[in-house]
Amino acid sequence: MNIGIVGCAGRMGRMLLGAVIGQDGLTLSGGTESPGHTNVEDDLGVLAGTASAGVLASDDTAALFAASDVVIDFTVPATTQTHAALAAVHNAALVIGTTGLSADDQAAVKAAAKKVAVVQAANMSVGVNVLLGLAQQAAGLLGDDYDIEIVEMHHRHKIDAPSGTALALGNSVAAGRNVDLEKSSVRVRDGHTGARETGTIGFATLRGGDVAGDHTVMFAGDGERIELTHKASSRSVFAKGAVRAARWTKGQAPGLYSMRNVLGLA
Ligand code: NAD
Repeated sequence: MNIGIVGCAGRMGRMLLGAVIGQDGLTLSGGTESPGHTNVEDDLGVLAGTASAGVLASDDTAALFAASDVVIDFTVPATTQTHAALAAVHNAALVIGTTGLSADDQAAVKAAAKKVAVVQAANMSVGVNVLLGLAQQAAGLLGDDYDIEIVEMHHRHKIDAPSGTALALGNSVAAGRNVDLEKSSVRVRDGHTGARETGTIGFATLRGGDVAGDHTVMFAGDGERIELTHKASSRSVFAKGAVRAARWTKGQAPGLYSMRNVLGLA
């Protein structure tokens, strides 16, 4: 399979290059960065921290999609929208890890998924995808007597909050309780908030250091508390999951798939 990496000089982009180069059955078709980015023309192997790959980073996104069976996107939401359109035009499957997408960005992803296979997940790690299932089950079993709070911590450079994974966990517990997350969630608390309203799903966001991603779902009842926690100690788990998703797209019908489809958990 020919795999392209957009955003190849980013934190995840470099990890992804490392997870593709030298892997059986995979050929790195190229990597792109935004026009004018300092790493355009850099060797992709050097960006990954390995030996020279003999392929240079480019800013020609259309050429990358034309040369790829599948493209992996961990970039920024507005760019993801453009990438979705290019995937449909060039008949390349797409794996999307970018989070913080607006309704318009998401509509572009859905439109592309009518033409090609798209795997989209706020978190590509196996552990978090198992956690999504556990959180849904626990929410259904425990009911409204247990207050749900979702706490996440990420590195100081993260630009969206709550994290896409925290929101995915929110959707899982909302599904377990059979409620709509949009109507039940409390994203921020400050000042005189009054007592906690029964049935709400609270979020708390921490930012600092180099934390790759910590998430806890708490079910707080009277006299006891359950906490389900996942801690990523390396971004490589997301890169490995994304490459697994990229391999999985081979021969898949057009459609919007999740990591739970890829892992056979759906
Ligand atoms: P980053 O800022 O280090 O990297 C993003 C890269 O995209 C940058 O190098 C930027 O220059 C590049 N980019 C921007 N516009 C571009 C364009 N037009 N063409 C090509 N490249 C372009 O960020 P990061 O930490 O690597 O995270 C990227 C995204 O992935 C974020 O949304 C983050 O939340 C998400 N993420 C998802 C998972 C997951 O498992 N799904 C895991 C980690 C991070």
